[in-house]
Amino acid sequence: GTIAVWFRKDLRLNDQTALSQALQTLDKNDQILAVFHIHPALTENFSIRHDYFFQTLRTFVEACNKAGMPVHFINGSLEEGFTHLTSEVEDLEAIYFNEDEVGYGKKRDEEAMKWLDDHEVPYRTFIDHHIHGAGEIKKADGDPYLVFTPYFKKWKTRKKPSIQKVDHQKLKKQGADLTEAFKDGYDTYQKMLKKCTHDWKALGETCAMERLKQFIDERIYDYEKKRDFPALNGTSRLSPYLKTGALSPRTIYHQIGEEVDHRKNLEGVDTFVSELAWRDFYSMVYHYHPDCKDKEIIEKYRGLDWNTDEAMFEKWKDGQTGFPLIDAAMTQLNERGWMHNRLRMATASFLTKDLLMDWRKGERYFEEKLIDYDPASNIGGWQWAASTGTDAVPYFRVFNPVRQSERFDPKGAFIKRYLPALEKVPEAYIHEPWKMSDEEQREAECIIGEDYPKPMVDHKTMRKRAIEMFKGES
Ligand code: FAD
Repeated sequence: GTIAVWFRKDLRLNDQTALSQALQTLDKNDQILAVFHIHPALTENFSIRHDYFFQTLRTFVEACNKAGMPVHFINGSLEEGFTHLTSEVEDLEAIYFNEDEVGYGKKRDEEAMKWLDDHEVPYRTFIDHHIHGAGEIKKADGDPYLVFTPYFKKWKTRKKPSIQKVDHQKLKKQGADLTEAFKDGYDTYQKMLKKCTHDWKALGETCAMERLKQFIDERIYDYEKKRDFPALNGTSRLSPYLKTGALSPRTIYHQIGEEVDHRKNLEGVDTFVSELAWRDFYSMVYHYHPDCKDKEIIEKYRGLDWNTDEAMFEKWKDGQTGFPLIDAAMTQLNERGWMHNRLRMATASFLTKDLLMDWRKGERYFEEKLIDYDPASNIGGWQWAASTGTDAVPYFRVFNPVRQSERFDPKGAFIKRYLPALEKVPEAYIHEPWKMSDEEQREAECIIGEDYPKPMVDHKTMRKRAIEMFKGES
């Protein structure tokens, strides 16, 4: 018979639960069939993150061809895709896939399972995207956690799942090739690739493993010291690989366990591991608060009177606020599809507290642009910054965009990398260029209001208004 493995955001050939399990179940004369479904919605709203995803998919497809397991594409609605699959693969025994525990993916999986049940197609699903799945870490009374610190305490003590080994020899011998019958899907895949225009440097599983190795060998020990400075290469930058599944979080965890030098100061290592737990935590929160993409988790903050000025929102999106750190950060997002964590916090705080604009708008904008878009982490981050989430920053703590800039980009190196208009602005003014005299502006070749915008709001005034808005509703 044939076991189909349905790939989604788990585009790798190692430490892959569904694939590993399928190979273990396979008898000598059975085959394994790799499947990918291209949803019609993807052909319409194509953005930079789809560009990244599809080029990663291409790298994966090439790796699969080499490994002896070509990928078969289904298209149209899920129902149409499955109908095609089940009619073409006569000896289909089961479909295996790694389940999505949150959001759109969860809904799609439920739809898929219903269809498979109705048509009596056996299937097996697995927890694979996180080190610990949503239901694995709970309070003693069985309730889910709402706050990270106690969650993390328990997370640390729990035994970690082991690597899901993939038998590559078996894969080579028993990979099914029915690509002729899936030509239609393949054409759709090719059409998607034609829409891709970016020149990404290091895509897919092999590059992910190299980056991980380099991070553990050289940079993880300094993570604690450097991770808040966007001008430095201080974080791992593994998020796009985790998003596409080119890298498994279990692999990261176990590689760290095996490779770090335990004689060194491990503060950076511990902090880094806690970030992997944050990833699990936010997924757990989204799982138990399925409406948190649209609703504030803290009920009393539902229905706040947000500012709806579209022109202001446009300025934030385009990096035209007049606050250099915020504008450089938004330029990084718009150009690269990625933003440093410190800046995600600063720009989210700026939109919600300095512009008093709805966090949902920011969450949606990040969704459109981030190549590492992860709904759980993004919603978690936005509700944190807006002070409306489970583990939120208190509403009276409002980030000062100038202070953030002075602390985390002291020399303005990051700002200058993304805002050439400020290149000649002296260090003393780089965080508040509007304070330059006319003479100084001329010297720096940066006339405020012409070459670079005036600050669009007064931080002190807006801070007060933000606090009033939150108080009024409580
Ligand atoms: P590192 O610092 O090297 O961390 C390693 C890994 O740990 C990351 O790749 C990520 O998987 C995880 N991680 C780190 N910080 C967090 C965190 N705060 N929450 C959850 N997981 C974390 N992360 C996303 O992956 N996708 C998103 O869409 C996303 N949106 C965010 C929106 C806002 C407003 C904020 C404040 C944070 C958001 N984050 C998101 C979390 C964090 O900013 C990114 O994971 C991080 O910047 C990725 O870079 P890195 O891989 O170099 O991180």
